[in-house]
Amino acid sequence: MNPNSEHESKDDFAHESEETLPWEKLRAAAEQAKLHAYAPYSQHPVGAAALTSTGRIVTGCNVENASYGITLCAECGMISELVRTSKPDIRETLIAFACVGPNPGPLLPCGRCRQLLVEHAADHMLIDTERGPTLLTDLIPFAFGPKDLPQQ
Ligand SMILES: [Zn+2]
Repeated sequence: MNPNSEHESKDDFAHESEETLPWEKLRAAAEQAKLHAYAPYSQHPVGAAALTSTGRIVTGCNVENASYGITLCAECGMISELVRTSKPDIRETLIAFACVGPNPGPLLPCGRCRQLLVEHAADHMLIDTERGPTLLTDLIPFAFGPKDLPQQ
């Protein structure tokens, strides 16, 4: 898959207004994913879910490691699922994202995961925050991305 491709699949959900996006469904999917978290060291289970441009929901949970340093955030698993389950000829992107942890309310992605999301986000991707849906570009402005690499 070419990450620089401008060609996207049918993006039926790319132009949903933030009011019509299925935030409750995403939060519920993130809660379900959280049930699978492997977090024996931090006791901080996390679940993440995103709506894709083809209308699918992809999810992930955090997976800790005894070495601590190679712990995988929930977003890592979610992005892996997105790539693994996308049709090979379609550049599927993320439209809306929700993440939950052990405390009530939305959990925001760490810096590394914001960068991960940038790579696979549709323009105007929204993130569930305590202030309401927020643009990913507001959480990571002037982000480095595929556009900054030489075009092939
Ligand atoms: Zn992270």
